[in-house]
Amino acid sequence: MNVFFDNAATTPIHPEVIKRMTEVLADIYGNPSSIHAFGRKAKSVLEQSRRTIAKAINAAPSDIFFTSCATESINMILKNAVRDLGIERIISSPTEHHAVTHTLDYLSRYKACEVIYLNVDSYGAPDIQQLKELLQDNSKKTLVSLMHGNNEIGTMSDLQYIGSLCAEYGVLFHSDTVQTMGKYPINVKDMGVHFLVGSAHKFHGPKGVGFAYIHAAHRIGPMILGGAQERGLRSGTENIAGIVAMARALEIAIQNMDINTVKITALRQSFKEQLMKAIPHVHFNGNQDNLFMPHVLSVSFPPHPNGDMLMMNLDLAGIAVSSGSACSSGAETGSHVLAAIGQSHDHKTIRFSFSSWNTEEEVQYVVAKIKELVKSN
Ligand code: PLP
Repeated sequence: MNVFFDNAATTPIHPEVIKRMTEVLADIYGNPSSIHAFGRKAKSVLEQSRRTIAKAINAAPSDIFFTSCATESINMILKNAVRDLGIERIISSPTEHHAVTHTLDYLSRYKACEVIYLNVDSYGAPDIQQLKELLQDNSKKTLVSLMHGNNEIGTMSDLQYIGSLCAEYGVLFHSDTVQTMGKYPINVKDMGVHFLVGSAHKFHGPKGVGFAYIHAAHRIGPMILGGAQERGLRSGTENIAGIVAMARALEIAIQNMDINTVKITALRQSFKEQLMKAIPHVHFNGNQDNLFMPHVLSVSFPPHPNGDMLMMNLDLAGIAVSSGSACSSGAETGSHVLAAIGQSHDHKTIRFSFSSWNTEEEVQYVVAKIKELVKSN
């Protein structure tokens, strides 16, 4: 049996999305910047996709910009908010994805702005009291960058509350919503975000396509220069098939959001219960009581001689999981998120992440395999 329990890294493409994408690849090959009928047809599906994405997050279509991935969107937003909006200080968390932390470390290294990482609790949730105290100092133009759901341990932040704080103190707010897009209702107006990002391959769309939401009152300039596509913000001929596929994938995810959440929550619960029975002293990282994403389950196994081989042995048994975050190649590098929450190094931690395509049968198979592998050591 092959089991894909690595859905926080990426997801299989929905068959309806493949169908639509293939139709577009075959039929709509005009360049959307061309003024002839072929180009106009491409432009029309491009703009329809923009409206679909905008509606999904309650934004104006003109505030949606297509990119190649969330990493690109995040780089553009953070770097260019400093360059173009006069941001002097960015407050973030050490548990953010590397797309954020590496960009912030770059900005800090080149002294482009001050970067402050909030303290986090043992669940990886940023210290909101500390944020409030920092925001009281309004001598520097500030942007807060805090993610919605953590890709490694599943802990979520209350974006609406953070957004209301940002509004109260008159600072800008960016959120990495990659892991929650299509899984949680996202409303840019209610949440008070000025910038957010999404990536198609996390919600059963194709890889290599993402978007940025940028509030009209806080427009930044481009990172990529050239033919002035995307109203000058992101040059390069648009990935029409990918963009149409992303819009369709998001539409399907939102239509099925409730039913998917129920299914994934049940799978996670069953997996946890069976694992606790099979492996004494197993530990779950991140918030388990409230404000967590059900599709991510980070498990630390008690130390045992061949603990480091567990992930590889699961792979040999046809089971795909990830150690920490898989986004940077799945390599066995120490996780900055687990380090930030004070996780001990002798515990082997594996991230299991689910989608609505997984089944209870798969859960049982994976738990049985883990039990066998841990026992044989
Ligand atoms: N942010 C989070 C929370 C992620 O999980 C990922 C990918 O895993 C990214 C950003 C980067 O997304 P992309 O693959 O679209 O660059």
